[in-house]
Amino acid sequence: MPPSTSPDKQNTVAVIGAGVLGLCTALELIRAGYHVTLFDKEQPALQASFGNAAYLAVEYLEPLASPAHILSAIRLSFSRKSAFKVTPDHFPAFLPWGLRFMREALPARLVHNQLAISRLNAQAIAAWQDILRFANAQDDLHQSGFLRLWEKPDAISQARISLENARQWGFDPQLLSGDALLEREPALADRVRHALYYPGARHLGNTYQTCQHLFDHFKLQGGCFRQQDVQGIRPLGSGARLTLQGGQHEFDKVIITAGVWSKSLLHSMGISVPLAAERGYHLTLPGAKGTLSHILSSTDRNVVLSPLDCGLRIVGFGEYSNLTSKPVNKRYAQLRYHLSKLIADVDTEDPDVETWMGVRPTFPDSLPVIDLHPQHPQIGMAFGHHHLGVTHAAVSAKMLVALMTEGKGSEVWKPFADAPDAYSVERF
Ligand SMILES: Cc1cc2nc3c(=O)[nH]c(=O)nc-3n(C[C@H](O)[C@H](O)[C@H](O)COP(=O)(O)OP(=O)(O)OC[C@H]3O[C@@H](n4cnc5c(N)ncnc54)[C@H](O)[C@@H]3O)c2cc1C
Repeated sequence: MPPSTSPDKQNTVAVIGAGVLGLCTALELIRAGYHVTLFDKEQPALQASFGNAAYLAVEYLEPLASPAHILSAIRLSFSRKSAFKVTPDHFPAFLPWGLRFMREALPARLVHNQLAISRLNAQAIAAWQDILRFANAQDDLHQSGFLRLWEKPDAISQARISLENARQWGFDPQLLSGDALLEREPALADRVRHALYYPGARHLGNTYQTCQHLFDHFKLQGGCFRQQDVQGIRPLGSGARLTLQGGQHEFDKVIITAGVWSKSLLHSMGISVPLAAERGYHLTLPGAKGTLSHILSSTDRNVVLSPLDCGLRIVGFGEYSNLTSKPVNKRYAQLRYHLSKLIADVDTEDPDVETWMGVRPTFPDSLPVIDLHPQHPQIGMAFGHHHLGVTHAAVSAKMLVALMTEGKGSEVWKPFADAPDAYSVERF
């Protein structure tokens, strides 16, 4: 049963991390009647949730650990087109994670992981629509359509294979080539030959802006925000104590939504998880706002382009690195290069171009953790959403709050009943 909405001390919850996952979860907790304090070491949504492509990528069904991705990474590993990198200082630490990642591409694991992603995808848009309605921010969601692109003239056969695959998963994209493609997206360079067009695809106008809207509504609904670094969590009877800079604070429940930093918070409670720091980069061109009408994804170059409210954004790279390493500056030049090849007339040297690097929290099986602590169920967690954190934020928040209030027998968990442990923290 959900808790009562009366001011009851049994209902205090701390949410650690105010990225898109933490903000969605904090709002769902408020909706369920809890008294929520949201902690972040910075202002909300300044990490991975700041500069992503904002694409609600429910059309993406392939886990990162798939034979196709791994072969493509090996094939392109020394070219400018390679999206996958490991920084040299990180290589020894990366190796055991990389081996686990390869194991996840074996057939039985691949099918399991793909189904677990598709179940989240199936609920993702409705969950976003619901939370945006609650936050009076419905206008943040745009249905712009998505084009998956191929450049080589003979790539039509690959496009057809992808079309068949998409159909098997219940999508019905259109295959466009040549003039029909340029008519749909006139800004494309004519080297781009083929595309699968998904008219129903959606994106947020700008994830950071949406996070601000969620945060404003959180405060309006009585939520409390504290800009503090949480240094440790200690379960206590039926509650938990947070160690903060300069003090401690007790809550009835604690939720960990700290992105890639969740790993060290769990470590403080004796749980070890194989969470990697997978960095991605962006360029945003405010002056090129309006150049594109669709979200684009280049199969050859592994980059995504989004027509955002703040300009044209290109994102790319899966770069595994130490959390404290500096961004690799040549990645921005590589993004400029890809942009110039994909879009016919764009000034990539515009001095107003913004550059950014952010860290995705990534597990070897490409699935997030959405779970309660196995011994201390007053502690919940939602993190590890890799490339799909924006897509899966709203549905993950609903699942976590349902887990806290009603358990896996709840309505929210029904679509996941075939494999309810797929997102468990104990699966590793
Ligand atoms: C280049 C790029 C493009 C992407 N594009 C897309 C896309 O188009 N679609 C999509 O679905 N996903 C996309 N993603 C992935 C998505 O951005 C992430 O999965 C998502 O933002 C993760 O959100 P989060 O809330 O878990 O983590 P974060 O946004 O990193 O938030 C974690 C928060 O926790 C805080 N924190 C950490 N430790 C502590 C502590 N000890 N005490 C207090 N606060 C703490 C941090 O300050 C931070 O604010 C992209 C990612 C990148 C890098």
